[in-house]
Parts: sequence; C-alpha cells; structure tokens
Amino acid sequence: MNTVVGIDGPAGSGKSSVARRSASELGFQFLDTGAAYRSLAWLTMERGADPANREHVLAVLDGFDYDITLESGSQRVLVNGRDVTGDIRTEQVSRAASQVAVIPEVRRTVNEIFRRLIKTAEPGIVVEGRDITTVVAPDADVRILLTASEVVRAERRAAELGESAEEILRRMRERDTRDRGNSDFLEPAEGVVLVDSSDLNLPQTVQAVVNLVRGRTPKQ
Ligand code: C5P
Repeated sequence: MNTVVGIDGPAGSGKSSVARRSASELGFQFLDTGAAYRSLAWLTMERGADPANREHVLAVLDGFDYDITLESGSQRVLVNGRDVTGDIRTEQVSRAASQVAVIPEVRRTVNEIFRRLIKTAEPGIVVEGRDITTVVAPDADVRILLTASEVVRAERRAAELGESAEEILRRMRERDTRDRGNSDFLEPAEGVVLVDSSDLNLPQTVQAVVNLVRGRTPKQ
C-alpha cells in the first residue's frame, strides 16, 4: 500500500511549493489538483466559452481529456494532448478556475481522475488542493491544512508576481470566498493537522510536513 499525504490550503498559503518539495524530500510523487481546474478553465476560454456559465463548462467537460506526467519535482499537464503547463498559470485562468470549480459535476469528474492517479502512485504521493483531506482522500495517511495569515499570503504572492499586495489581497479574498463554498478549507476537519506557516520560511515548512510523515503512527 502506498503512503498518501493530503495537503489543503487557501490561495497563497504556499501549499504548491511545500507539497512539491516535501514530495521530493520523501521520494514521493506529487499531485497539484488545482492544475485540473485550471486546465478545464483554460480549455473553456480557449474554445471561446464562458467559465462562469455552467452549460458552457459542462459541454467542454464532455470532451476534456486530462493527463499529467507525475514525477517528484515536476508535473507536466496535458489537455487533449497539448502541453499547457505554462498556459494555466495566468491570473485570468486562476479566476476562471475558481468559477468552474463550483460546479458539482466538474468536481465529481476531476475527483475521480485524482483518485485513479493517487491509487497507483508508488511508493507514495503528496496531493495538494482544497478538499483533499475531506473529499478526495479522506483516508490519507497524513492530512494537513496549511495556512498563513491573509496578509502574509498576499505579501508572498506580491513578491512572487511583482504586483501590489493590496490588489492581490483584494483578488485573493474574492477567490477565497468563492472557494469556501466548496469546503471550509480554513478550518481543519477532524484528524487534520494544522500547520501555520505565517512565521516559517519554505524549508522550515517543508521540514514540518516531512516530520509529520516520518513520525506518523501507521494506520491499523
Ligand atoms: O491551487 P490553485 O490556485 O491552482 O487552484 C486554482 C483553483 O482551483 C482554486 O482557486 C479553486 O477554486 C480550485 N480548486 C478546487 N479544489 C482543488 C484544487 C483547486 O476547487 N482541490
């Protein structure tokens, strides 16, 4: 049986970098689930359809062929055979991703894709997203909610993107409010360990996650 580590967290919590590096340190594979929502949003816009329109999105979902190559350290994303790894990282796609993600049929379909990928990942996998610890992999061996204060999250994004922290904070609140409808990712569910990275740098946060994985009590 493989080891599954689920990490949830809000926009800007650093979960993507933390999950990727923890996976690399543990010799595990890595799954960035947001990339699937981003990819569907990207394809919807690519087809000239509206990501806020349920019917439009469901029509695109029908022919959505999503695949990734999973390697510790990097994940390439393929949509209908095309490599969109870089295309899905824009702010416009971030916004559209959180719009398509509120549609239950979309969540059901991509969650099945994730469960299939998780099942076959050896010797283990670190999965990050929004409802991993509660819906996608509630039986994960280690379940973590990674948070940071809103201001710290906005500042980190601002440094990364070279934009004003105020504007980022505004967009982040908008996205967090929409995402919260999917699951309450700011409150850890039962059995989920809260890791607050407000006062930790990236290596320290990775260490905290790795320690939780190495120090866990095996499930009965
Ligand atoms: O994590 P990332 O910023 O790439 O996610 C983009 C969007 O995809 C999120 O804002 C959220 O709306 C959605 N998402 C989700 N559930 C996940 C991962 C991402 O709803 N497991």
